[in-house]
Amino acid sequence: MHEPTSEPPLFRPPQGPTSRFRAWHERCTQQTLLDHGWDVPVTCATCGDRNVPEFKGWTPSQAIRVGKSPTVYADLACTQCGANVKKEAGVELVSLFENQPIDPRNKRILSLFLGGILFWLVTGMGLFGIMRTPLFGFFVVSLPMMALVPVMMGMNAKIQGLRRTCPCGTPAYKFMGMLGRSYCFRCSTCGRLMRLKD
Ligand SMILES: [Zn+2]
Ligand SMILES: [Zn+2]
Repeated sequence: MHEPTSEPPLFRPPQGPTSRFRAWHERCTQQTLLDHGWDVPVTCATCGDRNVPEFKGWTPSQAIRVGKSPTVYADLACTQCGANVKKEAGVELVSLFENQPIDPRNKRILSLFLGGILFWLVTGMGLFGIMRTPLFGFFVVSLPMMALVPVMMGMNAKIQGLRRTCPCGTPAYKFMGMLGRSYCFRCSTCGRLMRLKD
């Protein structure tokens, strides 16, 4: 005879720190999700026409992002001849964004983060050098080390969250690609360019 095995509950109401962390993590991921798109004209190398190419989704890229090399993820087709204009879009991306500075608010978040790490390294490690007790080590070395991942995630979410606001009042930032290691966005409503780095 078999005892009926108890089924795990299908739905567990969110509670406790782990689910709260998961909800927060979810929110961070949502914030960093990129809205791919392309709405500026590109000169087609095949037919020579200059038009806003058709956006046919996007594909991940394995390209090594260095210096000022552009990475376009959007799959773009010339509306005249149908040719793939991804490469041409890369050229366009460089001319649009190479003189666009990283958003100053983005810079402030990054320097605050780097400043915090530096402060921790100098004071924490310095003090640990003087007081070599395990408990002190835990609070000054291990604990901040563990906090680093969520702090970095929070920082990234904060940086990417800058796209949620625009002086035009109707933010619609589309991700056009990467220039080196920076993200290039353009607001579809007002055409404002934004460059972010995390
Ligand atoms: Zn064409
Ligand atoms: Zn705008």
